[in-house]
Parts: sequence; structure tokens; C-alpha cells
Amino acid sequence: MNERPARPPRPQHVLEVVSTERLTPHLARVRARGTDLTSFRESPYTDRYVKITFVKPELGLEPPYDLAALRETLAPADLPVTRTYTVREVEGDELAIDFVVHGDEGLAGPWAAGARPGERLVVSSPGGGYTPDPAASWHLFAGDESALPAIAAGLEALDSDARGVAFVEVAGADDELPLRAPAGVEVAWLHRGAAPAGTTALLAEAVAAWTVPEGRGQVFAHGEREAMKALRDVFFRVWGLDRAQVSLSGYWAYGRTEDRFQAEKREPIGQIL
Ligand SMILES: Cc1cc2nc3c(=O)[nH]c(=O)nc-3n(C[C@H](O)[C@H](O)[C@H](O)COP(=O)(O)OP(=O)(O)OC[C@H]3O[C@@H](n4cnc5c(N)ncnc54)[C@H](O)[C@@H]3O)c2cc1C
Repeated sequence: MNERPARPPRPQHVLEVVSTERLTPHLARVRARGTDLTSFRESPYTDRYVKITFVKPELGLEPPYDLAALRETLAPADLPVTRTYTVREVEGDELAIDFVVHGDEGLAGPWAAGARPGERLVVSSPGGGYTPDPAASWHLFAGDESALPAIAAGLEALDSDARGVAFVEVAGADDELPLRAPAGVEVAWLHRGAAPAGTTALLAEAVAAWTVPEGRGQVFAHGEREAMKALRDVFFRVWGLDRAQVSLSGYWAYGRTEDRFQAEKREPIGQIL
């Protein structure tokens, strides 16, 4: 049988929280310090992301965790759980992650809402897949709060003469952040109001109504899975873009924990591209 060898786990970084800040009602920034963040500083990707590992405190496990060994020894309910987050910025030996605060459900959101200096944060080395192409004639960004850190970093990396638009869905005006974008890139905030995140058609409607400029563009669109599926139809069926122009994925799925959401990526419901 031709089984693919398991990918070796990315090295872990054991960080210490140095500060927390509520950027908006639904976004908490956690800054954490590590000993060697070279791989973060050298990442070419504006959407560089990490897997954060959460373990049950009562197990008394010390990081870095040997996840393969733990899988052999721990009961399924005690296994470490991972959550995926964008690294918003890296300065020296500190990195910042912006967490959506989405209520009491889940692990990472509630943890970030109450995180305190001195707490430990165990993250993988960074992955990533997108960086703005200076040769693109136009740029389009689209996403909800979960993609706001990656969109903000992408906008900051654009050339000063770049043109395009960023559509960002948030709950309301209080959730808007000042974004540094070139003059030719419009930032359009979409407010979903009282509707729960991941239940509106705002992003696809706004994107579909945009007049696509001449030339070959580049797209970065990430957020709730069904919203991304609606965008997929606009990009590929309506606009006829090709795959190489588009970075598109679900960052989370309404009503699913990340574990369930990641497992569903192997089923038709979870597939976007
Ligand atoms: C590459 C990548 C980068 C990402 N970057 C970021 C980032 O920088 N910041 C960020 O906040 N998220 C980011 N996400 C999304 C984040 O991984 C998910 O939102 C994750 O599910 C949050 O974990 P949790 O433990 O808080 O909630 P879970 O335990 O996974 O889910 C619990 C419940 O909360 C709901 N939920 C999860 N996320 C949200 C949300 N954003 N809004 C409303 N309800 C939600 C779920 O549908 C579920 O019902 C990223 C995801 C990927 C794949």
C-alpha cells in the first residue's frame, strides 16, 4: 500500500504572555515572548499562522509536548487540542496574535478573553501560504474578524501604488480597526449587526457587486466556511479567475469546533477548493 508518511510535527515554541489588550469588543490582542522567533521573522507570508496547543492543566504536562507519545498514553478526552491563529506581527522576541472573542464556547476565544501576563502559550513554528504579488494589477481581500489579522498584514505589505479593495465583515462600527492600506485600496466595512457571525451573505453580496478592474488580480479571502463557499462561486464561476490567483479557505465553520471543522475538510461538506 502507498500510504503517505505522516508529516513530522512542526517544532514547538513555549511563549510567555507579556500583555493583553482589547482592541475592539470582539478582538483581543495577546503579546507573548519567546526565545527564538527567527522562523517567524523570516516567514515570507503575511498570513503566517501557528497551531496553539491547549492541554488540561490538571494533567501537569510540561511543554514542549511529545504529541505522538501523548496520543499513545492519554485517554481521548485528555488529549491536547490545537487551534489555528494568524501571527499578526513579530517584533524582536515578541509576537502578537489577535483572537476573536466569540462568547463562552470554545477554548482559544475564551482563553484569550481572560489571558494574563505570565501565562504560557505553546505554539508551532509558522505555516503560511499568501503574500501580495507586486505584479498583480489589483488586489481583493475579503473576510470576517478571524481573517482581519491576516488582511491587515496583507494590506500593510502592499506596494504604495497598489489598487483594490478589502471587504471586512464585523459585528458593528465598534469592531472596526484602523488599517494601514495604500491610498488606492479602499477598506469597506460590512456590519452584520445582531446576526451571528457566519450566518449572513454580506461578504458574497459586497464582492459580487464590486466592479472588477482590468488586468490580472490577486485575491485573499478567508473566514467562515459557508461564506467562503459563496465567494468561491463569485471568483470562479462568475469572474472566471484561475486557482493561482486566489487564496481561499475556511478559517472556521459556524456551529463547529475547530476539531470537527478540520475533520470535515476530508468530507464533501468541508471542501472549498
Ligand atoms: C490559517 C488560520 C488562521 C486563523 N487566524 C485566526 C486569527 O488570527 N484570529 C482568530 O480569531 N481566528 C483565527 N482563525 C480561526 C480560529 O482558528 C477558529 O475561529 C477557531 O475555531 C477558534 O477556536 P475556539 O477554541 O475559540 O472555538 P472552537 O472550540 O473551535 O469553537 C466553539 C464554537 O465557537 C464558534 N466559533 C469559532 N470561531 C468563531 C468565530 N471567529 N466567530 C464566531 N464563532 C466562532 C464555533 O463555530 C463553535 O460553535 C484562523 C484559522 C485558520 C485555519
